[in-house]
Formats: sequence, C-alpha cells, structure tokens
Amino acid sequence: MKTFNGTAFAKLNLYLGIHGLREDGYHELETVFQAIDLCDLVSVSVHHRGGISLRCNRPYLPVDNRNLAYKAAEAFFRAAGVENPGLHINIKKVIPVGAGMAGGSTDAACVLRLLNRAFGLPLSDKKLAETALALGADVPFCLWGGTALAGGVGEKLKPLGPMPDCFLVVGKPSFSVSTKAAFALYDEKPRQTCPSSEAVTAALERGDLKALGAGMFNALEEPVAGQHPAIAQAVRQLEKNGALGARMTGSGSAVFGIFDSEEAANKAAQGLRRLCRETFVTRPLARRCPGKWEE
Ligand code: ATP
Repeated sequence: MKTFNGTAFAKLNLYLGIHGLREDGYHELETVFQAIDLCDLVSVSVHHRGGISLRCNRPYLPVDNRNLAYKAAEAFFRAAGVENPGLHINIKKVIPVGAGMAGGSTDAACVLRLLNRAFGLPLSDKKLAETALALGADVPFCLWGGTALAGGVGEKLKPLGPMPDCFLVVGKPSFSVSTKAAFALYDEKPRQTCPSSEAVTAALERGDLKALGAGMFNALEEPVAGQHPAIAQAVRQLEKNGALGARMTGSGSAVFGIFDSEEAANKAAQGLRRLCRETFVTRPLARRCPGKWEE
C-alpha cells in the first residue's frame, strides 16, 4: 500500500457576472477565481484491489459516490483504464461546506492530481482537465488554482494575475446556501445588466490592490443577501473595519474582505465573529505548474 498526501485549496470569486441565459437554460457566467491558502487535507492510499472507500472528519458529508472526491476517483480509473482498483481516500475538511468556496470541487481536483501521480501520470494535463470538467464547472480551476478568468461552463480558463500579496478575511455564517438556491433567488429578480470584469482584470494586470477591492462584484450577492440579511451585514462589517473591498463569494454563504495589513485583517476577523461562526485570515495562492506536483 502506498499513500499520497495533498492539499486541496479553497477559492474565492473576485468577480462573478451573469450575462443572460444560454440556449441550454444554463446561466452565462463569467468569473474571476482566486485560490487561497485555506486547505482541506486529502490523502489517497492505493491497494491492489478492494474497491473505493472514503473517510471524512465531517460526519454529515456522504462517504459514497455522492461525495465528489469519490466520484473523481471513479472518473480517474475510467479515464486511465484501471480495472478493479483498490483505494482509500481520507479527507480532513477545513474549508466550510456550502460556502461558495468550492470545497467539494477542490477535494475532487486533489484526488485527480494525487491519483495521476500515484499511477505514473497516465492522464495528460488536457485529459485531466476534461475529466475534471465532467465532475463540475469549478473543478478544472481547482486543478491548478492561482488567479483565473473563467467563462462558458468552466471550460474556458485564462490565467491572470497574480493577485498582489494581501490578507483575505473570510467569514462563513452559521447557515449554508446551495448553488441551486442562489440561482433560484437570482432568477426571481428582474434581469439586471452586470458591470464587466474589466475593472478587476485591469486591476490585477496593474497589481493595484485598491482598484481590485473597489471593482469586485458578485451578481448573486444582492438576491442571496435579500433572503439572508446576515450576509449584507457581514460585508458591511468588513468594510467598516477597513477592507479595500468586501463581497460574498460564489453562491454564498461566505463573505470575504481584502486587507493590506495583517494587523487590520486580524482585527476585522475578530469583529466578524459576532456574525460568522467560522472566520479565517488567509492569503492568495499562486498557480501550481501543470504537470509538476509538489504534493
Ligand atoms: P461551490 O463553491 O463549488 O458552488 P460550495 O463551496 O458552495 O461549492 P460545497 O462545500 O462543495 O459547496 O458543498 C456543496 C454540497 O456538496 C454539500 O452539501 C455536500 O453534501 C456535497 N459534497 C459532496 N462532496 C463533498 C466534499 N468532498 N466536500 C464538501 N461537500 C461535498
């Protein structure tokens, strides 16, 4: 038996725009992802045979093929042509669940990376990205992280940045919001035009943290916060404590703020505890090099 250990990083959305509906009924999304150093710890132990098993420190998460990490292992074995595999996956979750931080997607991406290494890199980076996309729109980004502009249904990924070094205060209220519920709340509102991603992408290109904070946007925030006032309160609290910009991430319920000093970030995190059960001070993570695994 051989064990491989990895870190599965969370993401934040620095921009999330919705530009109408596609012909297939899906929303036309455009988003700027940022990987952060808040990570789940994932390990895979490869046996000769015996099927797939999974253990996780959060008892309410499924441990069968409803867990995205389990699904990722099945998808890997199919793509790599491995028959009768034996595998144990262990996940120590740190990333809040149902927070808009890609918790499930990043565990799945980590399992794909680890298994590809364990089996001698049978999948090219392109095949790995295709296998990731079939698991979910956020999974391809979670393979390599960094800063990226994503469009379509996750298949169009353009590396950006890097984000200037800073402190990112993240707070997750006691409730979760499912992606489905967030889009349903968005659909109830009359259609609005979104600002473009230009302010965020241009600020990243210039390395201008202040302009980045000011340009951040999330089209789901207003409808979701309309239903959950604690989200708007948490965003305001971060702004009041000196954030260069604060927003909800993805479909919520977590919010985050950008700070240029550690002291201000720690103070803001403290101030957020009244509204958010889980708070973290994190930093942006640079992109991993495809094909090179430090784990
Ligand atoms: P996203 O940002 O990609 O929209 P999220 O961060 O809002 O996702 P997750 O934390 O991934 O949401 O959880 C969404 C649901 O996925 C949970 O209700 C959970 O039951 C299910 N799930 C399946 N596998 C996992 C996993 N490995 N970690 C967390 N949730 C998982």
